[in-house]
Amino acid sequence: MVGLNGHELINKPNKPNKLNELNKLNKLKYVMTNGDKKILVVGGAGYIGAHMVRQLVNARCDVVILDNLSTGSRKLVHGGEFVQGSLGDSNLLDRVFGAHPFDAVMHFAAFSQVGESMNQPLKYYRNNLAETVALLDAMVRHDVKRFIFSSTAAVYGEPVEIPITELHPCAPTNPYGATKLAVEHMLADCDAAYGLKYTALRYFNAAGADESGEIGELHDPETHLIPIVLKAATGQIDHIQVFGTDYPTTDGTCIRDYVHVNDLAQAHLLALDALLGGGESAVYNLGSSNGYSVKEVIGKAEVVTGKKIAVVEAQRRPGDPAILIASSEKIKRELGWTPAYENLEKIIRTAWNWHLKQILNVQHRTLNSLCSAIL
Ligand code: UDP
Repeated sequence: MVGLNGHELINKPNKPNKLNELNKLNKLKYVMTNGDKKILVVGGAGYIGAHMVRQLVNARCDVVILDNLSTGSRKLVHGGEFVQGSLGDSNLLDRVFGAHPFDAVMHFAAFSQVGESMNQPLKYYRNNLAETVALLDAMVRHDVKRFIFSSTAAVYGEPVEIPITELHPCAPTNPYGATKLAVEHMLADCDAAYGLKYTALRYFNAAGADESGEIGELHDPETHLIPIVLKAATGQIDHIQVFGTDYPTTDGTCIRDYVHVNDLAQAHLLALDALLGGGESAVYNLGSSNGYSVKEVIGKAEVVTGKKIAVVEAQRRPGDPAILIASSEKIKRELGWTPAYENLEKIIRTAWNWHLKQILNVQHRTLNSLCSAIL
């Protein structure tokens, strides 16, 4: 099927997932009433965006995905109308916004590697900040007034107290966090000037995969801890480098708060529902409120995979704060967020399931091409 300007429509049925639980609990008052809601998901072919699209489609929303595939993958898009393009293309934005009266925009399209942002800050300011200006400009031109933004715990910088609440001072230690904070400031100004209502969701460490094993984390190159550890467990890489063992933590390695990607998506749905119901702009942390050191993550992964993971101790990675642990009380209290995965082993298990399926798919494709070469 072909949609807007020849863009492909993908209408693969989705299996029920966590969203149905939300519906059963009657937590969504506006997303599913008064007919389908039309949502633009920018960056919907990326890791978190793809999980979001799946939940929106399950909520019977009409979803358009805009993604330039610079880091995302078509393999992760399992529903909605896919448009390949960049936010810098204002003609394309006008065509997309002109063709669809969107109820809201969700924005996942950003570069997110702390280390890279230290070496190539302008890449981050261009993509994460300037492109978001272009998106907000288009929203203002087309009178779309609800926006959900993927922000990050990196806006806080080195914490002065743990757990980190939304009232914690923001002093990013890397350009990645700085670009996200700049967008948050811009959103507050857009609310004041244009009445654009937004929710900024400050993710701690997104991890895991949908239990179907059909979508998951797929970065090239991979830089995030859990997928790298799992690659080491399968032998795809020899060892994992631990960046810094002299941090002021119990075992000297950095502590992070890992939150399941479907729990993140669930929080977006609740935020969307609140905005559709006339809610005011808000900022929320999204974490599991549990901290695990790099060494602990490796230990948990060894339990889940049953494999010994080789470790090489390396220099600190510039820009890394020692400890990031969220308080997510505000979103639990105000929007009724109830994360389903508060246990790291359970999160890693879903990532492992996805990882093994990826390997099986590659083996299957290799076998198929061998068979066709022989026949
Ligand atoms: N890390 C590591 N080795 C790796 C990748 C990451 O030791 O190969 C550490 C990294 O320094 C950080 C933690 O694992 O302390 C989580 O890093 P990740 O890149 O997954 O997420 P971030 O916290 O940067 O968003």
